[in-house]
Amino acid sequence: MSRYWSPIISQLSPYIPGEQPKVDNLVKLNTNENPYGPSPRVIEAIRGRADDNLRLYPEPTSKGLRETVADYYGLTPEQVFIGNGSDEVLAHTFFAFFQQSRPLLFPDITYSFYPVYCSLYGIDYRTVPLEEDFSVNLGPYTQTNGGIIFPNPNAPTGCLLSLDKIEQLLTQNSDSVVVIDEAYIDFGGDSAVKLVDNYPNLLVIQTLSKSRSLAGLRIGLAMGSRDLIDGLVRVKDSFNSYPIDRLAEAAAVASFEDDSYFKKVCQQVIESREQLNAELQALGFQVLPSAANFVFAHHPKLDALTIAAKLRSEGVIVRHFKQPRVDHYLRITIGTPKHIERLMEVLKRII
Ligand SMILES: *Cc1c(COP(=O)(O)O)cnc(C)c1O
Repeated sequence: MSRYWSPIISQLSPYIPGEQPKVDNLVKLNTNENPYGPSPRVIEAIRGRADDNLRLYPEPTSKGLRETVADYYGLTPEQVFIGNGSDEVLAHTFFAFFQQSRPLLFPDITYSFYPVYCSLYGIDYRTVPLEEDFSVNLGPYTQTNGGIIFPNPNAPTGCLLSLDKIEQLLTQNSDSVVVIDEAYIDFGGDSAVKLVDNYPNLLVIQTLSKSRSLAGLRIGLAMGSRDLIDGLVRVKDSFNSYPIDRLAEAAAVASFEDDSYFKKVCQQVIESREQLNAELQALGFQVLPSAANFVFAHHPKLDALTIAAKLRSEGVIVRHFKQPRVDHYLRITIGTPKHIERLMEVLKRII
């Protein structure tokens, strides 16, 4: 608390990201980064743009990247919004659409940044309990609301909701903006982007941080009707006109252009996930079905915090959430086959 702070600041409880420790040979399975680097063409694109033109501001609407993304998904550039990481896109989304007299709805177990944005912007919200098996129950989403948001696949569970359920939600809530946060969709889900032309209340948010191995560059996207995108642009241009720098934009374009590299990396992560899943189950873990680049698992005989601490002492870090219903679970990011081997070696010793 400081007497210099604006009053609202002392009431915030900021999001705490997973740690980024500087330890040699660490097996880092705690923040869902991609274990593989970006396409060589991405690195080349960054090098190619590291020149005198950096003295100039970037194109403020990221026009080139919006055109590339629009082409990739069969949209128009006016249906695409670019931000500095999807966390920034989410922040603008909460500000642009969810400050309503009716409460925002999201699941009780979900991305823990959502309540943080609500406290930042003074947004009233209700959480909707997931089912016992952590699947989404659509029933309560018919209650009066000023918006709906959840990740698909959900975080940190990895559970996927089908597109026909999402369409049902969009139809039942035509007066609210429904936001699908697709941070992990490329690891096995069907994107809701194909519904954008049919539902003016749908906003799909994606990131280049996970499946496209570019967490360090900070690039996020939103796709939706022109109406929604215009709303986001109004917020952006009242906040920061140039959210994406020249190098990040060049890298993002190159990433979408090298589709075969992207698909190969996603496929490798999916195969490793299925392998890890089977190996964890063989050790007695219960693992939720995941469509993401992580698994959410618990062991009926061992405390999650104890497992996490022992893994850590052996140089393997995973994520634990101190939250009712899931505090006996660990979220483990899918690493390379070598990372998984190391993880399993330590786990076998613990169990
Ligand atoms: C990782 C993640 C994000 C944030 O991604 P950035 O683009 O790196 O800001 C957003 N939503 C969910 C559900 C995530 O897991």
